[in-house]
Amino acid sequence: MSLALEKIQHRFGDTLAVDGASLRADPGEIVCLFGPSGCGKTTLLRLAAGLERLQSGVIDLDGVRVSGPETHVSPENRAIGFVFQDYVLFPHLTVEENVAFGVNQLARRERRDRVTAELSAVDLTGFAARYPHELSGGQQQRVALARAFARRPRAMLLDEPFASIDAVRRRRLRDDVRAILKSHETAAILVTHDPDEALAIGDRIAVMHEGRIIEATSPEELFQRPQTPQGAAIFPGAQTIRAEARDGRLYTAFGDLKADVLAGESAIVVIRDGGVAARKSPTGPARVTDLRFVGPNWRVRLRGASDGDILFADAVEPIEPGENVTVDFDRAHVQVFAAS
Ligand code: ATP
Repeated sequence: MSLALEKIQHRFGDTLAVDGASLRADPGEIVCLFGPSGCGKTTLLRLAAGLERLQSGVIDLDGVRVSGPETHVSPENRAIGFVFQDYVLFPHLTVEENVAFGVNQLARRERRDRVTAELSAVDLTGFAARYPHELSGGQQQRVALARAFARRPRAMLLDEPFASIDAVRRRRLRDDVRAILKSHETAAILVTHDPDEALAIGDRIAVMHEGRIIEATSPEELFQRPQTPQGAAIFPGAQTIRAEARDGRLYTAFGDLKADVLAGESAIVVIRDGGVAARKSPTGPARVTDLRFVGPNWRVRLRGASDGDILFADAVEPIEPGENVTVDFDRAHVQVFAAS
């Protein structure tokens, strides 16, 4: 049960939505596709589902071609389940009928048991007789998950599947969905904007940027050895600023730090949570624009000397807006990348 997308390219008119992206999910593996709005995530998923005709590249399910230059298996026939934001439930069918829709080939009793089990898995036992318009947005999303899982697909594609579900239930549902995918050994690709969600559910995180997958690796590897600033910046509290290298040091709008980067090179600096501290200094290069108490420390918002970059830093005492500060970078929390 693996899903492999190879060298996918896709245009909408002049827009190159996907630019040579390759991605695979192995049996029981959950790959989180993470990236900013408009980078091509949904397009890639729609191509994998067969909702969009492939223009270039190939897509294989368990080694069998489902999309290619001469192949297009229809969405109903490719044993891939999907939950998309705009792929709504059938309004004229009850919850039970919606979930049973894709499993009509099963014997009646087995079908009923399957529907009951899937509704229970998404915490909707007791909602079987309702119609979609009698459900909240989050409940509808959960029915869509149950409907997709009921077919026991070999691969699952999930586009922001928890978006309209409240935070407490989201966490639980996320764990449940992970367990269901693992127990059926389903290969899954899940799109999210939310870095916490990517870290919570993904075995691997595929970072997408301007139509390409720029790195795809485990959360641990991404934490220890990120290859791109976008990958490094996924962790909670990480901040990104620009810098110029000169004389073995990196100069930022907030101060400088030691770094082994070539002179004259532009760099992107990613600072992990807790990696930057500010202290009062009338001649310091940065100015405080706001402060908040976040316990046990203060958190100050800084504007740099030379450009519009913003940086948040920890401070052990309150520093009022308008005061200047010196910024100390903790090198162990700083990752430096050459700017492309
Ligand atoms: P989001 O996170 O906001 O959903 P995304 O990463 O899923 O974004 P896509 O929806 O795949 O991004 O869009 C990629 C690019 O393709 C965008 O520039 C978008 O405007 C464009 N695009 C997507 N669908 C179409 C379409 N049907 N016609 C024209 N352009 C489109």
